[in-house]
Amino acid sequence: MSFFELLKTDGSSKARLGRITTTRGVIDTPVFMPVGTQASVKAIDPRELDEMGTQILLGNTYHLSIRPGLEIIQAAGDLHKFMNWNLPILTDSGGFQVFSLAKIRKIRAHGVEFRSHLDGSLLFLGPREAMEVQRILGSDIAMVFDECPAHNCSAQEANEAVERTITWAKVCREQPRAPGQVAFGIVQGGIDPKLREHCARELVAMDFEGYAVGGVSVGEPEPEMMRAVELAEPFLPAEKPRYAMGLGTPAQLVELVARGIDMFDCVLPTRIARNGTAFTYKGTVSIKAGFNKMDFRPIEEDCECYACKNFTRAYLRHLLNVNEILGLRMLSVHNSFMYMKVMRDIRAHIAAGTFREFREMFARTYVPSQKVLAGRQGHILSTLPVSENAAAI
Ligand SMILES: [Zn+2]
Repeated sequence: MSFFELLKTDGSSKARLGRITTTRGVIDTPVFMPVGTQASVKAIDPRELDEMGTQILLGNTYHLSIRPGLEIIQAAGDLHKFMNWNLPILTDSGGFQVFSLAKIRKIRAHGVEFRSHLDGSLLFLGPREAMEVQRILGSDIAMVFDECPAHNCSAQEANEAVERTITWAKVCREQPRAPGQVAFGIVQGGIDPKLREHCARELVAMDFEGYAVGGVSVGEPEPEMMRAVELAEPFLPAEKPRYAMGLGTPAQLVELVARGIDMFDCVLPTRIARNGTAFTYKGTVSIKAGFNKMDFRPIEEDCECYACKNFTRAYLRHLLNVNEILGLRMLSVHNSFMYMKVMRDIRAHIAAGTFREFREMFARTYVPSQKVLAGRQGHILSTLPVSENAAAI
């Protein structure tokens, strides 16, 4: 059984229907991967994730190796056993966090020296270390250790980041893996067409099992993000899955699928839930807002999630206003369910040959919120003073 099967390509766009097969289970693509940075999808338990059709979760090398530390996860068996999630896990290499969260860093030939955002202790992460951590975590898909520069970096910095990313990817390729674990390369290069092409070609020559477009979700405006994906995608092999890291809003997911992307992860569903905001097919709604005071409808009519089947906007607004944890949990459940539903719809429409109509309908009815877009970019902390970094974790 091959790792990825391309089942169908849409006639009106680059959208693809596919299937990933890992030793822990099958993943239907395009897929959304809920983010379990600290070995938990914030406020949602594994049973709820399972009920909403989650086929793969994301975990994180940087955060997990700092807390609880690898010794504890290794003693538990691996990350799956530690958090009791038996389906596939993709682990991020930690590169993104080293470049966005960590204090004071020195980039060396073999990796990055940095100080922990928690206690300031001196740490080192490079391609060897990142792959070793992911081997111990036992994820099903490991990401290479890359350099993710700021979106407004100089041409020279962008160039150096691409060269280091290529060199480090070669090292990652040769490292030992956990049983059944595959590795994805990460294409950097900002919005420079030559750099994106160069990085993609070099990585494709290394024959990774899949490819990610990195250097997006780093505070860039949406047109730049779309452009970065459009510049990398033509050089990625059709027979391997493509993953756009850290993206996006529901409307962006539809548009990125149309640009040939198969895999996504994003903290938005749970992050905006904690602000009292819900995603719907018509855009975002503030459940906390006064106009919901006497609204006894669910968050979204026809939504099949546990929150919508059982609770009203008026009740959820009350819970949020008195800081009852159930309010945040139910909004997190609804938002995550909504993301999974959008991906199910996308897959069904590609299969039925009606993706074009779905894409047009979505663009017509979904009203993007500027506040949400700002919130997505707000998790990039490298431009903030260190004290705010620590507070925002
Ligand atoms: Zn719902």
